[in-house]
Amino acid sequence: MISTFSKRIRELAPSGTVMLANRIKKLKSKGVDIISFNLGEPDFDTPPKVVEAAKHALDRGDTHYTPSLGTNELRSAVADHVWNKNGIPAKVDNVMIMPAKFALYAALQALVDVGDEVIYPDPGWVSYGPMVQLAGGVCRPVRMINDGYWHWRPKDIEDAINDRTRAIIINTPSNPTGSVMSLKDLEQIAAIAKDHDLYVISDEIYEDLIYDGKHCSIASLFGMADRTLTVSGLSKSYAMTGWRLGWLIADREIIKMVNKLQQHSLTCLPGFIQQAAVTALSESESVEAMRKEFMERRDMLVPLINSIPGLSCETPQGAFYAFFKADLGYDSMTLSEMLIDRANVALTPGSAFGEGGEGYLRMSYAASREDIAEGMRRIKEVAEGIMSA
Ligand code: PMP
Ligand code: GLU
Repeated sequence: MISTFSKRIRELAPSGTVMLANRIKKLKSKGVDIISFNLGEPDFDTPPKVVEAAKHALDRGDTHYTPSLGTNELRSAVADHVWNKNGIPAKVDNVMIMPAKFALYAALQALVDVGDEVIYPDPGWVSYGPMVQLAGGVCRPVRMINDGYWHWRPKDIEDAINDRTRAIIINTPSNPTGSVMSLKDLEQIAAIAKDHDLYVISDEIYEDLIYDGKHCSIASLFGMADRTLTVSGLSKSYAMTGWRLGWLIADREIIKMVNKLQQHSLTCLPGFIQQAAVTALSESESVEAMRKEFMERRDMLVPLINSIPGLSCETPQGAFYAFFKADLGYDSMTLSEMLIDRANVALTPGSAFGEGGEGYLRMSYAASREDIAEGMRRIKEVAEGIMSA
């Protein structure tokens, strides 16, 4: 019998986060009173000035194709933004506009040949492995250790490197752990990348959501700009997930290669959205207001988690995820199902983020304080029920 689908797509696992989000949306539309802490998406509205800018652009007829690399105005604004804020020495030629998720996918397509290996964090975001697979590469998740905050031991990375290793993906602040890489962590990765002549793909999509510590872009470290592909965007910082606006910053030769992929796939991003993005980049007060609110929610949530029997949580430094240990006698997938069934509360099982995430649950606190309080009350009831059974 001929198989209907390509081996590549048959072997690809669905996204644990997006699949669960679809399921919860469906339950909500049927009227189920479910509290969702599963999806990493700010609950705020996009800043009104940004929405206005998009409307104006639409009214002006900005509804046509744009250059595949992005409009010059936005590329130039992003180059200034990453230089002023992150210290990345970028010019317009180093910038390409594309959704952040697609930028990661495209970066891997551009760098990885069949059989090349890519190192990435475990626990780490759900899409890194599948994206490496789609590029024909070999996944090399490297376990992080948790001694108060999640980080890599340099020796574990060194041990995973061989002559097929092509790139290391880093993610700071991290989804799912909320850890922020220190300057020392980044310097160690930079040294390893230089020693072994590797690329670094740096996913900085949560860069503006830091509560303790400071964001550092690895591309700003000495000798790293040429070998780093930095990915970020507006989704999380500006509450603009649905706009699909992000960027890739890299050496201009890499940008030229990735541009070929954009030309044959997305073509370009919508002009009115790029116009709104230029406005967004001048809206840092909105970002700061949201960051503060996330920090207050974090400070409210962590003690609540730690007051529940069987659960323990360190204080995450960034992003909007609490990644907590759940010692309740069930694996994380079973626990997540039990919480949906018994309490109408949705959390993402830690196992979705790799073997190193087993035993943990990820809770997105991009939710209202009322939902956090009520959700924790429901989780407590389930945990106490399990403990006393
Ligand atoms: N990287 C990480 C770690 C994420 O959590 C997300 C969330 N969607 C992305 C990349 C992709 O971002 P975007 O939705 O802006 O494409
Ligand atoms: N990044 C978000 C999350 O982890 C959105 C879903 C996704 O893109 O995986 O929940």
